[in-house]
Amino acid sequence: MPVGVFLFCIYRIEWKAETPDESERAVNVTPTGPGYFDEGDLVGVLTSQPLDRVLDYRAPEGGCHAGAFVEVPLGPRKVLGVVWGSGQGDYDKARIRSIIRVLDAAPMREELQVFLQRAAEYTLTPLTAMLRLATRVPGLSNPPSMQKVYRLGNGRPNRETEARGRVLDVLEEFGGLSFTLSELSKQAGVTPSVVKGLVAQDCVLEEDTPRDLPFARLDVDCGGKTLSADQATAAGQLRTAAQSGGYGTTLLRGVTGSGKTEVYLEAVAEAVRQGRQALVLLPEIALTAEFLKRFEARFGARAGEWHSGVTMTERRRLWKIVGQGGCQVVVGARSALFLPYQNLGLIVVDEEHDSSYKQEDGVLYNARDMAVLRASICGAQVVLASATPSLESWANAEAGKYQRIELSSRFGASVLPDFRAIDMRLEKLPSSRWISPSLEAAVNNRIAKGEQALLFINRRGYAPVTICRACGHQVTCKDCDATLVEHRFQNRLICHQCGESEPVPEVCPHCEAEGRLAAVGPGVERLSEEASNLFPQARVATLSSDLYTSARALKQQIEEIAAGAADIIIGTQLVAKGHNFPKLTLVGVIDADLGLQGSDLRAAERTFQLMRQVAGRAGRSEAPGTALLQTFQPEHSVIRAILAGDEEGFWQTEAAERKQVGMPPYGRMAGIILSSPDLQEVFEIGAELARRDGPIRQIGAQVFGPAPAPIARIRGRHRVRLLIKAPKGVALQKAISQWIAQVKTPNQFRLSVDIDPQSFY
Ligand code: ADP
Ligand code: ZN
Repeated sequence: MPVGVFLFCIYRIEWKAETPDESERAVNVTPTGPGYFDEGDLVGVLTSQPLDRVLDYRAPEGGCHAGAFVEVPLGPRKVLGVVWGSGQGDYDKARIRSIIRVLDAAPMREELQVFLQRAAEYTLTPLTAMLRLATRVPGLSNPPSMQKVYRLGNGRPNRETEARGRVLDVLEEFGGLSFTLSELSKQAGVTPSVVKGLVAQDCVLEEDTPRDLPFARLDVDCGGKTLSADQATAAGQLRTAAQSGGYGTTLLRGVTGSGKTEVYLEAVAEAVRQGRQALVLLPEIALTAEFLKRFEARFGARAGEWHSGVTMTERRRLWKIVGQGGCQVVVGARSALFLPYQNLGLIVVDEEHDSSYKQEDGVLYNARDMAVLRASICGAQVVLASATPSLESWANAEAGKYQRIELSSRFGASVLPDFRAIDMRLEKLPSSRWISPSLEAAVNNRIAKGEQALLFINRRGYAPVTICRACGHQVTCKDCDATLVEHRFQNRLICHQCGESEPVPEVCPHCEAEGRLAAVGPGVERLSEEASNLFPQARVATLSSDLYTSARALKQQIEEIAAGAADIIIGTQLVAKGHNFPKLTLVGVIDADLGLQGSDLRAAERTFQLMRQVAGRAGRSEAPGTALLQTFQPEHSVIRAILAGDEEGFWQTEAAERKQVGMPPYGRMAGIILSSPDLQEVFEIGAELARRDGPIRQIGAQVFGPAPAPIARIRGRHRVRLLIKAPKGVALQKAISQWIAQVKTPNQFRLSVDIDPQSFY
């Protein structure tokens, strides 16, 4: 069965198909590849509307390319679509409507069509939703935005005035370059009418060019650093891989500060040398600014940027120019993977283990895995860079599926910090305080030397729980199964699930006792308060994503801290991600046990990664660093592995444990999340699914649940989970789609499938 056909048979529970116009009956087509359709030819158009089908239309006047972005009539509306291939033509031809017009964009390449289809199949997402990810750009259907530019024409004017001469001099001096009217008249010091006069005589040519101008060309030989022997070997290997011209994935593993970035920039340079495009994915927007600066220093020009902090105009420009091959390197967030590259040769996934690569709402996909998929389709190289790879990537390298490159030492004089535990059972610490006397002493010691200390706690806000001391009531969200988190900075209680907030109440919402509400437990704001009291002479800076109104403000604060504007940095997970603080020599982890609680499959892996990432912030220059872990269980195997710094040993043990129970990456999992405003309904449907598990059992897999999700209610919807555990190598997606197709679901009901789930909330 062709991929397209299979795709359109699969589940469509989330998407209630609208009833399309009679003339737009369902057809299923697969991309036909490069081709051209003449006016009146029957073509199949995939729209971004939630319909589970490709619709037949006629090619417009002037014809259209396969892959062309078009506007088509759908019922009374005009919608965006892509010419996916030939039409099926099994319907009354007289009633098929015509494409309205072809949009001003390079046609989608077959490689991207295939990628969207395969990604849709893999994630069990309707293809139309995948197309939406690939066309999330404003003004795509606006008329072409052109501007007039001027360049040198033929001959001399009939009357040569001084002003006219200056215009021609400017144009001659700059060779074949074009100017806008205002640029040219300003440069020549004349009024625009002088230029227009020359245009009338063809001495200056007036032309229309797109407003979305190409990006500056990169200079690959501009600012490369002299690499250490290790780094040079690694860069050489990546270069060789790039020269193969085909697909391959490399796991680039190296401790923080070992120069992974320097090394993969050489792979980027190689791709650019070969005339191909490169994409660098970063997990955190706040990191892009620092990275872009380094990039510009290396290549003498800026990369294209794609993330939520980029203006709409710039987004449209990048999207269009990338499609014309006019942007050589894109730096961006996970959705940059869906841009219409013309000739993608390299994808770097920096901090590849980072959980933010998994999109947790809408289309559930993992950008790291999808990067490998896209590269394998378009014949590109992938570099997965990390100090602490995910077990998935580690196992793929072990199995020989990925090439593995190691950078084992830090660059220059800097060394990895020394890890030590602070046994909290032995520390005398009053309740409502979290900085132990041992940690306090260490911090004082660093401040005295003019160095910086970082206190890390992975929790935003002031306190995770607000409780009434009179009646014991905990303040919870009215729509979610979650306690409200106090954010003292904003003076509000906020639900971290749905984002709803309310002012901190004066009386208990339950017993109405006045002034008895108390904050329980620490968050980053509270820690900051404690540090200010404990170290009154020190300058304390707090870094938490929600304390900044813009990425720019955050970036500025980070730069100031790096330059020495703070003695103590208090931070959440945000600081773990690759910022350079040269004066930082001490990292104190307030609660090293935090991530070990709960039954998450990846609890150990995540804690190990996070602790090592955070500790990696210390001692990045010459001064050696120390990482102190406050823990109540210093003998826990994960804590011991962190302290011993025995990475390979940790991965081996973790891998062996997962292998034994057939858990990922040695088995497959999929989550089914059912939700509905109706509690009974959600359980009944869950139970019915569990009863009809035939298709799942047929592939040797098991269904667990239904069970209430750990967060049993979000935004007023009750949530139930089922979990599927399957052996590797079975047709899991197909079985799931057959399985869930058996159950009819009511209107307000939602069922979503999470293939390879990363979180289980
Ligand atoms: P990683 O990505 O592994 O954390 P980076 O590439 O950011 O490491 O390197 C850490 C620091 O060392 C950066 O400031 C970088 O500029 C510097 N560095 C690494 N390699 C070199 C080199 N060969 N020459 C000069 N500076 C280097
Ligand atoms: Zn809520």
